[in-house]
Amino acid sequence: MRLTKFSDLALRAVMRLAVTGDGESLTTREVAEAMNVPYTHMAKAVARLQHLGVLEARRGRGGGLELTGLGRGASVGWLLRELEGEEEVVTCEGDAPCPLRGACRLRGALRTAQEAFYSSLDPLTVADVVDSPTGPVLLTLTGRGAA
Ligand code: SF4
Repeated sequence: MRLTKFSDLALRAVMRLAVTGDGESLTTREVAEAMNVPYTHMAKAVARLQHLGVLEARRGRGGGLELTGLGRGASVGWLLRELEGEEEVVTCEGDAPCPLRGACRLRGALRTAQEAFYSSLDPLTVADVVDSPTGPVLLTLTGRGAA
């Protein structure tokens, strides 16, 4: 199973914002630079995260992105389900649909495996994934020295 690039960079943004200290305020551009992704891609991810209620943008002087209470306590499994949507891990339908798609035991097994993947991430929170050593490294990323 492979996550979409969109989910990956949305999670990068959440992780960076999860370690934002008091008085620190990051814009979408700064988060994009710190996490080494194009600004336009990050802007789309930020918009989706705002829609989910995971983060909010404060406007004006001193404004910036901030995780909400929901975002700070969110489970990684829940977040990934929301970001990935209903997409299956195989393409059974589409322009060249598979002739087995209406009665395929493999398709059902893959759906079960996909759900097991998300379930295994349900107990993990955003706070968990920014524990040391990840959190201290996140704080060093400025976009200038970020790999
Ligand atoms: S064999 Fe089954 S899982 Fe694979 S594409 Fe066909 S319907 Fe989908």
